[in-house]
Amino acid sequence: PSDVRTGDDSAALETLRRVFGYDAFRGFQREVIEHVVAGGDALVLMPTGGGKSLCYQIPALVRDGVAVVISPLIALMQDQVDALTAVGVRAGFLNSTLDPGTRRLVEAQFVAGEIDLLYLAPEALASRATLSLLDRGRIGLFAIDEAHCVSQWGHDFRPDYLNLSMLHERWPGVPRIALTATATGATRSEIATRLNLTEARHFVASFDRPNIQYRIVPKREPRKQLLALLRDEHPGEAGIVYCLSRASVEKTAEFLVAAGIDALPYHAGLDAATRAANQQRFLRADGVVMVATIAFGMGVDKPDVRFVAHLDLPKSVEGYYQETGRAGRDGLPSTAWLAYGLQDVVQQRRMIDTSEGDLAHRRNLAAHLDAMLALCETVRCRRVQLLDYFGQLLDGTCGNCDTCLEPPESWDGTVAAQKLLSTVFRLDRERNQRFGAGHCIDILLGRNTDKITQFRHDSLTVFGIGAELSEAEWRGVVRQLLAEGLLAVEGDYGTLALTDASAEVLGKRRTVMLRREPARQAQAGQAGQA
Ligand code: ADP
Ligand code: ZN
Repeated sequence: PSDVRTGDDSAALETLRRVFGYDAFRGFQREVIEHVVAGGDALVLMPTGGGKSLCYQIPALVRDGVAVVISPLIALMQDQVDALTAVGVRAGFLNSTLDPGTRRLVEAQFVAGEIDLLYLAPEALASRATLSLLDRGRIGLFAIDEAHCVSQWGHDFRPDYLNLSMLHERWPGVPRIALTATATGATRSEIATRLNLTEARHFVASFDRPNIQYRIVPKREPRKQLLALLRDEHPGEAGIVYCLSRASVEKTAEFLVAAGIDALPYHAGLDAATRAANQQRFLRADGVVMVATIAFGMGVDKPDVRFVAHLDLPKSVEGYYQETGRAGRDGLPSTAWLAYGLQDVVQQRRMIDTSEGDLAHRRNLAAHLDAMLALCETVRCRRVQLLDYFGQLLDGTCGNCDTCLEPPESWDGTVAAQKLLSTVFRLDRERNQRFGAGHCIDILLGRNTDKITQFRHDSLTVFGIGAELSEAEWRGVVRQLLAEGLLAVEGDYGTLALTDASAEVLGKRRTVMLRREPARQAQAGQAGQA
């Protein structure tokens, strides 16, 4: 309606309340929206889940004309348009998945100004037909989502994004807003340069969530460890427990319920009614623990989530940050707790190896996993490392993460690494065999298992040379070598293999500093997996 198109701040607030049903802006949303509504260019850096969408959706409604939104994720366009339609906003998308009839309809709506937002894939702008379509309508705003895709050094580079600099040349009067959650200084200036956004005002949110205490512990008996966390530190409090698979969601929820915790499962395999009911209970009742796959959480805005626990390793730092970020929205002390073990690395590497998609895609997944592993194995402050990943500096250390509260010792693990790598080397080169971490550790510890006898591995020169470390410590060595790319795991059985970098350690050209597990945890780890 034309009465809200006055372009002032109260129109933005009125739209936030009437259309989206929220009371107040978050962070610097209001500043961004005012700036863009007034016709300015903007570059917005905000963590995932921070509320970037409203930064262009509200200007789209307040400004005259149609907002054209460039989005690289075809799969998400439908979701975004559905979400907007559900709150009564007129929106459409054009991409290669549309049938010709629907396409013509959306094009007509755009030209007639009957929609307020039009989502486009970046490659669409390479087509003359699309450009002339855009010329026939009235554009009020360009929004460039996931703007870091223009960075040639990033993981998500999309060549079509380079072409987006022409938006400004062709439609110089239309304001542009570029948004991203990937925030290194280098990426930021690259976005500004390549998108021709030199005049844009930069809005950079802090990624720090000071009230969240980050903790990453070796995985032993994960459900028992989880239960101890809930009972000792968060009795009767609301939280989310993330598991990788539906089966483990079900089992964990049952385990917690049997232990007297008010827990509910949530995953995509449950029918829609159960999912909705469980989500409602989590939101409305006090102290419910939601055990879920990552399908849970998008758009769930519960302020008093006191902990987020991960029983399996997230696939990326972005995912970890987003999921843990659901804790403590109210600013009160909260816990982000992750239990992680060797098996997680084996499992995730296998998932990457067998994933569909080309080599570049698998490399991208592997790079994301490596960054996550580096966070798990760091001896630095977790928050420093986390913010560093997003290109932000923290002054000093945080005092509110496990490495700050209980600093891990580092130790010279070069000899241990050499022993482990030469075990892998001997099995591979002398016997043409590959084995998983458990068996290699048995060899180092000189154990007489059936498998050792069967393969006569007690005759290897490395048999029994690692008795100075415990099994848990050896598992720590394996994990850290994997995290540093000095060792690889392969195949369905998670067998260990050397990498190019292994040679530097074996050739004594490289020292390896390792993180010593807190003694208490390492001891307990001997019984289970670490
Ligand atoms: P991003 O794109 O930055 O990852 P979204 O735009 O998807 O984040 O927003 C994340 C969640 O926060 C959404 O559920 C959104 O509805 C909600 N949200 C955004 N802004 C506000 C606000 N001002 N008040 C309450 N909830 C908000
Ligand atoms: Zn810290």
